Amino acid sequence: MRWGLIGASNIAANHMIGAIRGAGGDIRSVLSADADRAKAYAAEHGIAKGYADLDAMLAADDLDAVYISTTNEKHFPQAMSAIAAGKHVLCEKPLAMSVADAVTMVRAAEAAGLVFGTNHHLRNAGTHLAIRDAVAAGRIGDVLSVRVFHAVYLPPVLQGWRLDNPAAGGGVIPDIVVHDADTVRFHLGEDPVDVVAIDGVSGLGKGVEDSCMSVWTMPSGAMVMAHESFTHAHARTGFEIYGTKGAIVARNVMTQAPVGEILLRSDAGEEALPYSDHNLYLRSLNLFHAAIQGQGRPAADGIDGIKSLAVAAAVAKAAKTGQRTTVDYGG
Ligand code: NDP
Repeated sequence: MRWGLIGASNIAANHMIGAIRGAGGDIRSVLSADADRAKAYAAEHGIAKGYADLDAMLAADDLDAVYISTTNEKHFPQAMSAIAAGKHVLCEKPLAMSVADAVTMVRAAEAAGLVFGTNHHLRNAGTHLAIRDAVAAGRIGDVLSVRVFHAVYLPPVLQGWRLDNPAAGGGVIPDIVVHDADTVRFHLGEDPVDVVAIDGVSGLGKGVEDSCMSVWTMPSGAMVMAHESFTHAHARTGFEIYGTKGAIVARNVMTQAPVGEILLRSDAGEEALPYSDHNLYLRSLNLFHAAIQGQGRPAADGIDGIKSLAVAAAVAKAAKTGQRTTVDYGG
């Protein structure tokens, strides 16, 4: 599979270049807005070609798929260009700046017969797969509520556009609420109905929120509370699901690494749930390659990306208006 990287990003350098190559992919080119940076990034990562012009990169006609990891406002136009050029697309979250744009790009890929994936890494984690299996097997009975703790300290290397550039899609809601929405959907197999939320600035955000707390209702009646932040240096992440027959209490699982602890508690006592410690991003790539070959679907597809964005958009609106807000999934 021949890949082009759209975006000379940290996530590509730190995780995705290795994952694409680990899954047998051949990275042919990289795009940056800056020609010198494109060349330097290509050289640093052993990529043959660096481009500053997306049309030229796509016109070279030597790619099967692209991975888009630019800042969020660029995902939509770049995905549309790649789809028009007949490339399969693995796009970073949030898919776009609006649900309407996300729907447009996912429908365009579908109409063109192309595979479209959203790079929600958490549902690829061995921890979350083990939690999902335990819930699906009925080990905690019917789900009553979920608590998501996803307050972290944004690493200094990432303290750029996320903290000061709303036009680029900065803020903790587009950055982290989308992941939490996807993870809750993954575990419960249902989509949030409506939300209330409060956001705020707690030390790092300049013109965007760096913290958010929200509560969501689910069609089953289950309730979800979620906390996201960029400013919490000493918090550990966690994911807890409470059911009629038991509870799952997981710690340090809202992360890019294959780590964490999962405890299952019921009337029978407490037990640690075992899980696979495979690389999250490699699993995502393996499934994406298989989908291109007609086998199965990406770990998270375009619809999943639309839905996680829709929940985040509802949380942002609820925080802004102070009103309980119905999630609009775009039809
Ligand atoms: P970065 O800030 O690293 O990259 C975004 C853009 O910023 C790049 O495309 C690049 O522009 C520019 N850039 C990056 N580093 C430099 C630099 N040193 N000098 C000049 N320009 C630079 O963002 P992330 O990698 O953190 O995020 C990119 C996307 O990936 C976002 O959509 C984000 O939400 C998503 N993401 C997803 C994660 C996941 O696990 N699924 C984790 C982290 C991010 P250019 O390409 O024009 O050179």
